[in-house]
Amino acid sequence: MTSIDATQWRDLDPGARMLMGPGPSDVPARVLQAMSSPTVGHLDPYFLSVMEETQTLLRQMFQTENRLTIPVSGTGSAGMEACFVNLVEPGDTVLVAVNGVFGTRMCDIVNRLGAHLVRVDAPWGRAIDAADVEQAARSHDVKLVAVVHAETSTGVLQPLDELAAIARDAGALFLVDTVTSLGGVEVAVDRWGVDAVYSGTQKCLSCPPGLAPVSLGDRALAALDARRSPVVSWYLDMSMVREYWGAERKYHHTAPVNMIYALREALRLVAEEGLRARFARHLLNHRALVAGVEAMGLAMLVPESERLVTLNTIRIPEGAADVATRRALLSRYGIEIGGGLGSLAGAVWRVGIMGASSTERHVLTFLAALETVLREQGVAIAGNGLEAADAVYAAARVD
Ligand SMILES: *Cc1c(COP(=O)(O)O)cnc(C)c1O
Repeated sequence: MTSIDATQWRDLDPGARMLMGPGPSDVPARVLQAMSSPTVGHLDPYFLSVMEETQTLLRQMFQTENRLTIPVSGTGSAGMEACFVNLVEPGDTVLVAVNGVFGTRMCDIVNRLGAHLVRVDAPWGRAIDAADVEQAARSHDVKLVAVVHAETSTGVLQPLDELAAIARDAGALFLVDTVTSLGGVEVAVDRWGVDAVYSGTQKCLSCPPGLAPVSLGDRALAALDARRSPVVSWYLDMSMVREYWGAERKYHHTAPVNMIYALREALRLVAEEGLRARFARHLLNHRALVAGVEAMGLAMLVPESERLVTLNTIRIPEGAADVATRRALLSRYGIEIGGGLGSLAGAVWRVGIMGASSTERHVLTFLAALETVLREQGVAIAGNGLEAADAVYAAARVD
């Protein structure tokens, strides 16, 4: 047997970061501490009470009474897949409204499931027109309408009430991706009439990546119960997973115990802040960021009325080097931002101000660092970004 030389492996030391990309966001020390609490068995009575509390907190987060509200084991994409594999069967017709990368990913999953895809496209960087969805829903026998609430690839917030009504009128289930909205902007599952919803932990909840909060309402559960064929994914089959999270506590797979500790703590932090205050904080930091960016002479991709406050897409200005700018922000200031995805690669920067990364310190530090890096590249800076952002904060302090 070859011996392993343990001395060559050093301690982990990633260094300090300000995570302002499309996720993960900064994780508060309390969440990391909760995560390092002693691991217990996944059927230990102590853990069962932690599960109950986490479910209660998640229901408050989603503003729902849905019993089946749980963190699915896996990242946001596992939440997406869980919703589709449970609600869609081969031959079903699924309408997906697409205006970015994550809507495209939904289409990929629908195709893999052998369902009939009806795709409604809107330009990337714009909200989806409800009239287009209505027309498509009218001309097909649709079982499910799916849409992304907060398109992280473009920075667009999709209004949901009209789409929910269209889905309901068509007799279809309404499925929503809230990965980049939950915990940063309002998600009102019951009031809006959302039947199935999923999210992720590492965006506006400021928990490490690893869990996907999912909530299924009565209509979604009825569709699950009425399936003609078994769910194609054994791991994500909610008819079995729900028996572990329900009164039966029946073993299905080992819950990621310490990740659930972390999520519970992240949700407790949200509860302490309060939803209203939390959403107001995200809005204020977004407004300050935009004021700063625009004062510097840079342009936002998305029209003001359709902007997502938690993820901001800034057009890369003439003369600026995309990759070199992001590399300089990271190596010199520890600031992570995202590049463009898909058709927006090289055209925009994606700046996340989510959860613990949505603070005045993050916004002002980012603006100062960006200005410094751009100036060095010879990019003309029109005006004082810090002053413009500070004016937004000063006005909010007076209010
Ligand atoms: C990040 C993201 C996902 C995927 O989540 P992962 O945790 O990366 O698997 C899905 N939808 C949206 C809108 C996202 O922003």
